[in-house]
Amino acid sequence: MTEPADHILLLAGTREARLLAKKLVETFPDVRITASFAGAVDNLPNLGVPTRVGGFGGVAGLTDYLVNEKVTLLVDATHPFAAQMSGNAVFAARSLNLPLIRLERPAWTPESGDLWQSVVSLGEAADALPAQARAFLAIGRKDLHRFTHRTDIFALARMIEPPELPLPGHWQLVLGRPPLSASEEIALFRKHRITHVVAKNSGGRRSHAKIEAARQLGLPVIMVDRPKLAETELATSVEDALRKINLEIASDF
Ligand code: NAP
Repeated sequence: MTEPADHILLLAGTREARLLAKKLVETFPDVRITASFAGAVDNLPNLGVPTRVGGFGGVAGLTDYLVNEKVTLLVDATHPFAAQMSGNAVFAARSLNLPLIRLERPAWTPESGDLWQSVVSLGEAADALPAQARAFLAIGRKDLHRFTHRTDIFALARMIEPPELPLPGHWQLVLGRPPLSASEEIALFRKHRITHVVAKNSGGRRSHAKIEAARQLGLPVIMVDRPKLAETELATSVEDALRKINLEIASDF
């Protein structure tokens, strides 16, 4: 049996990556597809394609992988804040002259009634919280240490898996994925008398309920802007990515 001519490496870790993997299998049954996870969480979803887990070892490691595995198209569907991985993908693809498509869902924009303060980093977000604030931190466990010196505030921190570092004793932890409904977020914010919401501008519907809840309660949101990433071909939705991947694969013949 001959090897498939094309091999797509899909850098995963988002809902869009999961949806795209499914579409890729349906659309390109003869193309080899490999999904890649950082392994940041234990409970990884099954994407229905062969999967590898763990870092590649920087740009050099990724470049080696792309060459050794004869990857013909790199698709970066990582989270908009996974700047290191996205940067590595750009540099490795450029060095090999390999096509790269980044699937990047649009950022959220403030609507009428939103009280947003935009900041450029999590450190700036931590500084922006006033003394005695009761903050809801929806920033993931990796970046929590940027807030833990703020022992003058109360924080309710939500993340999927427990943090590696201890939290200040008077803070509280909620483990789990965000709910889809604003009413659940409103109940949570009321229960803990939240005064400020800190969020990364992730975009997408999956974690937007907290933003709607803050709007309805008139709470300020400290919104961390996305990191600036090196330029590459962009797709803004799963359908757009599929169309662009189709063009790349068709151009091989
Ligand atoms: P990051 O800071 O950009 O990446 C750190 C390192 O983790 C990378 O240099 C790479 O290691 C490895 N890595 C990241 N994504 C990978 C992937 N898909 N496959 C293989 N290795 C990967 O990323 P992060 O912010 O820690 O996020 C880690 C993962 O969680 C990403 O896949 C992302 O999609 C997902 N995620 C992140 C966030 C967030 O807010 N940052 C939110 C939801 C989901 P090497 O340099 O050794 O290759």
